[in-house]
Amino acid sequence: MRDYLKFYVGGEWVDPAGSAKTLDVLNPATESVAGRISLGSAEDVDRAVKAAKAAFRSFSRTSRAERLELLQAILAEYTRRSGEMAEAITEEMGAPAWLSKSAQAAIGAGHLHTAIEVLKTYKFHEPRGTTMIAKEPIGVCGFITPWNWPINQIACKVAPALATGCTMVLKPSEIAPFSAWLWTEILHAAGVPKGVYNLVNGDGPTVGAAISSHPDVDMVSFTGSTRAGVEVAKAAAPTVKRVAQELGGKSPNILVDDEGFGDAVKRGVAHVMTNSGQSCNAPTRMFVPAGRMDEAKTVAKATADAWAPGDPNGNARMGPVVSELQWTKIQGLIQKGIDEGAELVAGGTGKPEGLETGYYVKPTVFANVTNAMTIAREEIFGPVVAILGYDSLDRAVEEGNDTVYGLAAYVQAKDIEKAREIAGQLRAGQVIINGAGSDLMAPFGGYKQSGNGREWGDHAFGEFLETKAMIGYGEAVAAE
Ligand code: NAD
Repeated sequence: MRDYLKFYVGGEWVDPAGSAKTLDVLNPATESVAGRISLGSAEDVDRAVKAAKAAFRSFSRTSRAERLELLQAILAEYTRRSGEMAEAITEEMGAPAWLSKSAQAAIGAGHLHTAIEVLKTYKFHEPRGTTMIAKEPIGVCGFITPWNWPINQIACKVAPALATGCTMVLKPSEIAPFSAWLWTEILHAAGVPKGVYNLVNGDGPTVGAAISSHPDVDMVSFTGSTRAGVEVAKAAAPTVKRVAQELGGKSPNILVDDEGFGDAVKRGVAHVMTNSGQSCNAPTRMFVPAGRMDEAKTVAKATADAWAPGDPNGNARMGPVVSELQWTKIQGLIQKGIDEGAELVAGGTGKPEGLETGYYVKPTVFANVTNAMTIAREEIFGPVVAILGYDSLDRAVEEGNDTVYGLAAYVQAKDIEKAREIAGQLRAGQVIINGAGSDLMAPFGGYKQSGNGREWGDHAFGEFLETKAMIGYGEAVAAE
């Protein structure tokens, strides 16, 4: 039982400002209480913002070398505790142990490492004639993060924000707050200066809204649903702060008619099943040549059936989904797929046999889906693949782009020229060709209603920097 009732403000663990309510955090595999957090208030946010503001003056003036040393100390401490981190993630959101270890916890170290590498050579000053263009830390940042890849989303904001000299207040997801608590202990142990990093737990409409609207928060970086992202932007508007939104997705996966087809179907289904379909960039709409629909169905069914869910602490490939609320939402969408006439090939509604306790969902595949169906339009955020047939590649690209989202897109083709041509036409912030693994140095973010920011790698630094032009700065280059 984890009693995580304090907040981290000004370098100390503090009690909430008022008489805070507590929230039970459930383990989605057992449905039992695994811990508790306090739900903060606007006053708690205000205290944390004050601490971050007070720390900004000195932290923003630290040298590159000092910040490198700090990030290296955090990475060392994080690495030392990465086993505990993986366990916390499995407990709070149900990712299977193998995934928590190899990806969910590992990517936290990945973003720290990336920030270190980028910081080593990042150009904060660029002379142009007699003008000097400087990149300066934007100030106090507010971070609001979701539960699905909890440490990924925290690390990919906090690491570059520290690297650029910003100070910050984090509100992690109230559904998965354990990893954020460990992350905070790690930063404390690594010697982050007082007030530079602060943690306030709470719900979105209270703590999230207070961060978004606070006049002394200079930018908000939000990851979560498009619905909440819009609320954050509205709350931020009166104070004209910068808002970076990393939102939902409904990513197309276009399979070209060639010899690697079977492997491509298998890879696409497996990708959706990973993390129980709870990844914003999951390739949930698979476009296959209409003439190969039957073959796609056979391979997709076999693949989905092999992703049997089970105890995330055991050897299961797939754990439960995060909550009863998500489970019910997913069930409703699977039923909608059936009702609207999609062909159910694998899985379906109800709990998998023998898994009555825990929020387990059957790995589900629908075939002969049309792009107008609800299951092709709405983000399901569960282990559900929709297979759509196409008559021409032009049509597949057109339908692939016919969505309000634009986070990721996928192309599978032996002919790399063909793959590149399709990739160029897809309206998404990231296009992954032939199952290439993720690249932490590459920008991550969405077109359209998937957002407006770009995280990861050197692009992440830009999110936390202001641009200042100092005209008449010097004559060094003016003579040219
Ligand atoms: P969510 O929007 O419900 O919650 C995300 C965070 O926002 C939580 O911390 C929550 O407390 C807070 N929040 C909720 N309402 C708020 C409000 N009115 N004001 C301020 N904060 C508020 O999302 P979720 O269910 O935790 O996560 C799933 C969603 O996140 C999916 O839509 C998924 O696609 C998206 N996501 C996007 C990315 C990306 O990088 N684009 C990555 C992961 C997840």
